Amino acid sequence: MCIFCEIIKGNIPSKKVYEDDKVLAILDISQITKGHTLVLPKKHFDNFLDIDEEYSNAVFNAARKVTKMINNAYKPLGFNIINNCGETAGQSVMHFHVHVVPRYNKEDLVMQHADNSNKFDLDSIVKDIKG
Ligand code: 5GP
Ligand code: ZN
Repeated sequence: MCIFCEIIKGNIPSKKVYEDDKVLAILDISQITKGHTLVLPKKHFDNFLDIDEEYSNAVFNAARKVTKMINNAYKPLGFNIINNCGETAGQSVMHFHVHVVPRYNKEDLVMQHADNSNKFDLDSIVKDIKG
């Protein structure tokens, strides 16, 4: 059972902020900040590698609209638009979704990363990726 498919079917309640034929946007049950919203395709895709172009376009277009709606409501100082792809990257619900997280200060969401800037040869990475 996919919890977001159940929400889309209406079997589990949610707080809807935006809906169209392909997309549903709901408040995250665990609000990182006030207005934190999840934007979901109404068709099930596991993650960003899996989602097709039609639904990916629809989700990101809806995420842009939702960001503007939250901006009008709360006038935050910024936003993070986040997708976690795969368990290692922090994905806990395996139905593709985009987080729209309004930011009110620098401390309300802290993202840490390793500094590997000197470790890699950028030209060889370009070759690897482009194939
Ligand atoms: P992920 O960790 O996969 O990127 O994000 C999953 C998000 O779904 C989490 O932020 C979590 O709080 C949210 N979530 C999990 N279960 C529910 C639910 O039943 N309803 C809503 N609205 N959000 C949920
Ligand atoms: Zn699903």
